Amino acid sequence: MRLRNIPRAAEEVANHPIVIQSGEEHKGKWNKVFDNPNPIHIEIGMGKGQFILSLAKQNPDINYIGIERYTSVLLRAIEKFDTEEYSSLSNIRFLCMDAADIANIFATQEVDRIYLNFSDPWPKARHAKRRLTSREFLARYEEVLKQDGTIEFKTDNIPLFDFSLEEIKESNYTLVDFTKDLHHEPSMNKGNIMTEYEAKFSALGNPICKLIARR
Ligand code: SAM
Repeated sequence: MRLRNIPRAAEEVANHPIVIQSGEEHKGKWNKVFDNPNPIHIEIGMGKGQFILSLAKQNPDINYIGIERYTSVLLRAIEKFDTEEYSSLSNIRFLCMDAADIANIFATQEVDRIYLNFSDPWPKARHAKRRLTSREFLARYEEVLKQDGTIEFKTDNIPLFDFSLEEIKESNYTLVDFTKDLHHEPSMNKGNIMTEYEAKFSALGNPICKLIARR
């Protein structure tokens, strides 16, 4: 994502009630934040938030946490939350953090599902560890995902998708399903919510890949 520094972003992110400031304090107690025992689904690298806000609106009995590293990007998600369509939702929170630290924020088995959408490809081999579907990140997710918890990953980047399939194969996860043309695969596309990047790249004619893996 191209980043433009927005001077007021840090202040907005620090003061908006939808953003949890010290995630570490809620480790093992996220259900108290939401005041219910509902499942917790997180999106890592949520960007401007369209996907997770739409899910939260559709599924009031699931708690959603959107993770984004940059305040300038998170600001856009906050602004979207503040619109009439989403501002009354009580089942969503945002965290501004590097996903590498996820095990400091969630306890073992605290998360039911992780969504990764159009993650940065980091094309250079020496940067492979930074990819959000690398074995290093998959191991971090294992620390917080429930047994049988799932990861759902979408991208239009075929080398990144092939890499991700290989990493899943080498990991403790089971590949449940995958497609290299989601929008023409009715069973996997049912109920699909497009992300900002998905809308942009599919409009250019790029097929969208998706995989689902189970812990
Ligand atoms: N998921 C959105 C979509 O599909 O429209 C945004 C995709 S954008 C290419 C990737 C996003 O992931 C960026 O906003 C980036 O800042 C965020 N990101 C990348 N690495 C991250 C990390 N380690 N922790 C948290 N966010 C990260």
